[in-house]
Parts: sequence; C-alpha cells; structure tokens
Amino acid sequence: MAKYNLKVAHFYGDLMNTYGDIGNIIALKYYGKQMDTDITSDIVSIGDDFDDQQYDLAVFGGGQDYEQMVISKDIPHKKEAIARFINGGKPFLAICGGFQLLGQYYVDANGEKIPGIGVLSHYTVTQSSHRSAMQNQTRFIGDIVIKNPQNGDLYHGFENHNGRTFLGDDEQPLGIVQEGHGNNGEDKTEGAIYKHTYCSYFHGPILTRNGNLAKQMLLEALHNKYPNEDFSKQESLIIKPTF
Ligand code: GLN
Repeated sequence: MAKYNLKVAHFYGDLMNTYGDIGNIIALKYYGKQMDTDITSDIVSIGDDFDDQQYDLAVFGGGQDYEQMVISKDIPHKKEAIARFINGGKPFLAICGGFQLLGQYYVDANGEKIPGIGVLSHYTVTQSSHRSAMQNQTRFIGDIVIKNPQNGDLYHGFENHNGRTFLGDDEQPLGIVQEGHGNNGEDKTEGAIYKHTYCSYFHGPILTRNGNLAKQMLLEALHNKYPNEDFSKQESLIIKPTF
C-alpha cells in the first residue's frame, strides 16, 4: 500500500478517448507509483452526478463532433461542481474536445454551435463550415512541439482537430508552438493554463509522452490533499529542462 492516495474523475471516459487518451490515466498511475501514491479513477459520464469533493484530479479526453454534441446536453448538470473543482485549484487535464467543452462554445465542422460550459474563457470556431467538402484539408493534423514559457519544458504530441481556439485574457497558453499548428494556426499558442487546469490539443497521449506534466499535476494534487506533508522527494522527480 502506498502512503498517499489520489482519486481521478475521468469525464465521459466511455465517449471521449481519441487516440487512446485513456493513456493519461495509465500515466498518472505509473508516475503515482514513483511518488508513493495510489491512483484510482471513476468514469463520470452521462447521467452521473459529479461530487467534486470526492476527487483530487480530473481528466477529460478528446472526441468526435457527434459525441461532443451529446455531451453538451449533459455537462451543464455538472457545471457548478466542475467550476468549484477548477476554481478551487484542483488539477484538471482537458484534451481537444474536452478542452473545447470547458470553454464557451465550439462551432463544429458542419457549422453547428455546440455550447461549452464556459468555466474557462476560450472559444472555438471552425474553418471548414463553409466548405465541408474540404474538411480534411482544413483540419490541423500532424506532429507538434511546444515550449512551456513558464518552466521551459518542451512537450511533444500529435494534433488532429477542426476547431480553432482563441484564449481568453485570464488564460495562458500551455506552450508556444515550435512545430505544428496549435490552437488556431495564427497566434502560436497551444492549449491553455488556468489555475491548475491544463488544456491541450495533444494526443499521444500527452502525459505518457510528457512525464513532467504528469508529475506536476500529481504534485499539485498531493499538496492540495496533504498540505502539511513534505513532498521534496517527489518534487526531485521532475526533470529540469535546459532552456
Ligand atoms: N471534434 C473536435 C475537433 O475536430 C475535437 C477533436 C478531437 O478531440 N480530437 O476540433
């Protein structure tokens, strides 16, 4: 038995799992072991209540426009608890479609406006609504590398999205694009950071390829849950980038 334990809410894990985003949970378990921490997770899906008090971390994967439309009808019931979770500084990882649904709205490839819960301030539009026959040419698809401006970490991933996301004033990008497209192909931003919520278009999954981010989220959750413990041993597992 590990000394610590953390519980992950896996939002719509049965519907949102593009390119095996569930690997993010596996990565949290893997790094949890190195940090003397047991990780358990529950899928929180359609019709389920979300009791934010029960969870220390949250993960929300990517998905297709159809699934996003279905989820947009359920997620408003969880909005208040998700807002409390995020604004209370608990770590939350939202990928691609999950990233879009935490924001204000997403205009899908057919030009349909799918409402988000607006807990985060970004919004997402489409380039392909007027030329859906060319949708494949307008998706952002390929390998991507970004640099986190706060700590110099380089993150590697694979992006495949129609949506173009624009950040709000209270959000920072997860990274600056070095290679690839990022949020919108215009402003070099990729993903978002708000408090301890990390959003990204990265699949791969992001935490299996970028262990520092997994460790950072676990440390934040440990500090929240065990405020009087010394986690310097766990902190030493973070690999310092050479700028
Ligand atoms: N359906 C969304 C888009 O195309 C999200 C895609 C994803 O989650 N990979 O932008």
